[in-house]
Amino acid sequence: MHRFFIKEPIADTVTLRGEDVKHISRVLRLRDGDAITLCDGRGSECVAEIESITKDAICCRCTAPIPCAGEPRTKVTIYQGLPKTGKMETIVQKCVELGVDRVVPMLTDRCVVQPKESFQSRIERWQRVSEEAAKQSQRGTIPIIEPLVALKRVDLSQYDLALVAYENEQTVSLKEALKAFSGTKIALLIGPEGGFEQAEIEHLVGEGAQSVSLGTRILRTETAGMAMLAQVLYEVET
Ligand code: SAH
Repeated sequence: MHRFFIKEPIADTVTLRGEDVKHISRVLRLRDGDAITLCDGRGSECVAEIESITKDAICCRCTAPIPCAGEPRTKVTIYQGLPKTGKMETIVQKCVELGVDRVVPMLTDRCVVQPKESFQSRIERWQRVSEEAAKQSQRGTIPIIEPLVALKRVDLSQYDLALVAYENEQTVSLKEALKAFSGTKIALLIGPEGGFEQAEIEHLVGEGAQSVSLGTRILRTETAGMAMLAQVLYEVET
């Protein structure tokens, strides 16, 4: 069933406006009596029967809201060392499909790209990628892409567990770090193409993060986040 995000809470009747009207009536060619899924973007969804279609509005009658099946219980935030242009789209798309809760672009010592004033427009583009991926993968929320943050300003106190993927970590594996985990909020930190400085790892560990290895092979920065996310959710979701 086709799926649409609405801004208001689910009620007995909901009216869709804007882009969705064109999409439903002209592209999908749905008609009165057809059913769609509406999701409030806060974890609830309903089945909605189309009652009327005009040029500007589509009125729907909705069933009672139920929790979206596509939402993991564990809320994972990925802090992604800012990669070279173009890679962040892939990272956002794949991580949204896999169940990320938030993505925070992070500026580290070895980031090659230096953000310009126009950076806000990139965040907006990544937010649109997140929304598309959320629709396609039947998520119940649209993961937020946060503004760029410097590594030194990352606040890890809000998480039950913070894990930094460090390419030089020889001792602690991701599996070990997750063994005793109970809680709902996890932060994962990924370095850019050039990796992390030792001093950055020391700083993050001082802030409460644990350094972990993702195995004996070195992954590209765009692979590391999605691989780590998939493994974390596999391990902690029941
Ligand atoms: N240029 C570095 C690798 C950077 S990989 C080097 O050659 O050593 C980019 C990021 O992906 C790393 O900073 C880390 O966060 C993550 N990563 C990749 N492979 C990893 C591994 N095997 N263990 C832990 N983290 C890894």
